[in-house]
Amino acid sequence: METGQVMSEAAPKGGGKREGGLGAPTRHPIDWKSEAFYDEVPLFKELERVYDICHGCRRCVSLCQSFPVLFDLIDESRTMEVDGVDKKDYWKVVDQCYLCDLCYQVKCPYVPPHEWNVDFPHLMLRAKAVQFKNGEVGAARKLLTNTRTIGGLASIPVVTEMVNAANRSPTLRKVVKNLLGVHPDAHVPTYHSRSAHDRVNVVTGALPSGRAAGPTRGKVALFVTCYGEYNMPQVVDDLVRVLRHNAIEVKLIEQEQCCGMPKLELGDLESVARYKQFNLPVLHEAVKDGWDLMAPIPSCVLMFRQEIPLMFPDDAEVLAVKARIFDPFEYLMHRHKAGLLDTGFRKPLGKLAYHAPCHQRVQNIGPKTRDLLSLIPGTQIEFIERCSGHDGTYGLCDETYAYAMKIAKPIVTRVNQADVDHVTSDCPMAADHIAHGMGNTKPASHPISLVRMAYGI
Ligand code: SF4
Ligand code: SF4
Repeated sequence: METGQVMSEAAPKGGGKREGGLGAPTRHPIDWKSEAFYDEVPLFKELERVYDICHGCRRCVSLCQSFPVLFDLIDESRTMEVDGVDKKDYWKVVDQCYLCDLCYQVKCPYVPPHEWNVDFPHLMLRAKAVQFKNGEVGAARKLLTNTRTIGGLASIPVVTEMVNAANRSPTLRKVVKNLLGVHPDAHVPTYHSRSAHDRVNVVTGALPSGRAAGPTRGKVALFVTCYGEYNMPQVVDDLVRVLRHNAIEVKLIEQEQCCGMPKLELGDLESVARYKQFNLPVLHEAVKDGWDLMAPIPSCVLMFRQEIPLMFPDDAEVLAVKARIFDPFEYLMHRHKAGLLDTGFRKPLGKLAYHAPCHQRVQNIGPKTRDLLSLIPGTQIEFIERCSGHDGTYGLCDETYAYAMKIAKPIVTRVNQADVDHVTSDCPMAADHIAHGMGNTKPASHPISLVRMAYGI
C-alpha cells in the first residue's frame, strides 16, 4: 500500500517559517504589572498609531473580523483617515479580536525588530485588559471562561445528563442564550461523567525508563487540559495509548488548573497569573524529575510556550517549563527522526480534511501533524491552513457566532467539495466548528485518535 499523500497546499518551505515579514520576529514582554499598561491615554495613542499603519497596509483584511471593522470605520469616517474615527469606536475592533496571533506571526512585516514595532494581537490584549479592569466584561463571559469549574460541575453524573440534554433541546438553548449569551445554534461540546483522570489507567514504570532522542527524553507528563479532562477524555486515552505504543512512558499531571487561555482572551490577566501560580510548580517538579511535558490542545501548549513566558519573562520555573513542553505531533516526529516511531500502520484512513489550527501554526513547529498523518498508507490529506473562526468563546457567543460561521465558510465549502471521510484538527473545537458548519455530515476527530485507529490498537 502506498504511503499517505497530501492533496493540496504544500507546507511552508522550511517547515513553519514565517509567511511574511523581513526577519525573525521578536516579542516584547507584556508589561501587565505596570500602572501605565492600564492607562487609557497612552493606550489610545498607540491604538491610533497602529490602526493608521494597518489602514495603509491592509494585508490582514481576510484574517478575521477585526480588520474589516477597522477599515470600514476609517473609510466611512469624515476624513477617511484614522483621525476621523470616534475614539469610542476603537473598541469595536478590539471586540472582534480573539487573539489567534496569526496577524503577528504569519502576516505582519512590521513586527519588531522593524522600527514600526507593530504587535497587533498584544495591543488588542492590552485593550482587553483595560476593558476588564474597567468592569466592562459581563458576568456571563466571565462564567463561560471558568472552564474547569464548569467542566467539574458538568461531569457530576446527574448534571452531565441534564447539561447534554439541555444542549440538544432548542427550547432550553433559548434559555441558555438569555442566561449566558450562547447562540442557540452554536456547537456546544458534550460533557462526560468519567473524566480523563477517571478513565485513563496509566501505570508508570511499566516501560523501561525513557529513551532520549533529539530534544525528547522519552518520558511524558501529560497536562490533560480542561477540555481533555471533561469534553474529550477519549482523546486523552488515545494519546496515552499512542505514546505508550511507541515506548514512551506516560503519566498524567495529577493536579492542574486551566492553562489560562480563556481568561487571557478576556483580558483577565490576574486570573491567568493565579492559574500560573498553581500550575507552574507542579509542571516544574515534573521537569526536574526528568519528564517532558505535553498537552493535547495547541492553545494550552501556546500558553506555556509563549504567553505566560511573556508575562513572567524572568521566572526560572516558567522558562524551564517553556523549554520542555511539546505539541504531541511535534514530539512524535522528533521520535520518528530518530527512528523510534512505529510506522507499522495497519489501517488506511482514506481521505482526511486536516485543519492546522492557528495556535499551533504560530508555534513555528511546522506542520508536524500533517507530516505524521502522511506516513499512514492509504491516507490522503486535504491540508487546510486557515482560521476556523471558532477561537474559544468567539464561536459560542450570540454577538459573534455569525462572524465565526462566516470565517469558517471557505473551509466548510472546501471540505464539502473534497468529499472526505474525516474532518480533523489538533484543535477539537475547530474540528467541531467546521463539522457543525457542514451540518455534521462528516465525523470530527482528533488526529491522535485517527493515528490510534491506523495502528489498530
Ligand atoms: S490576533 Fe487573530 S483575531 Fe486578533 S486581529 Fe490578529 S488575526 Fe485577527
Ligand atoms: S497587523 Fe501588520 S500586516 Fe496586518 S494590517 Fe496591520 S500592519 Fe498590515
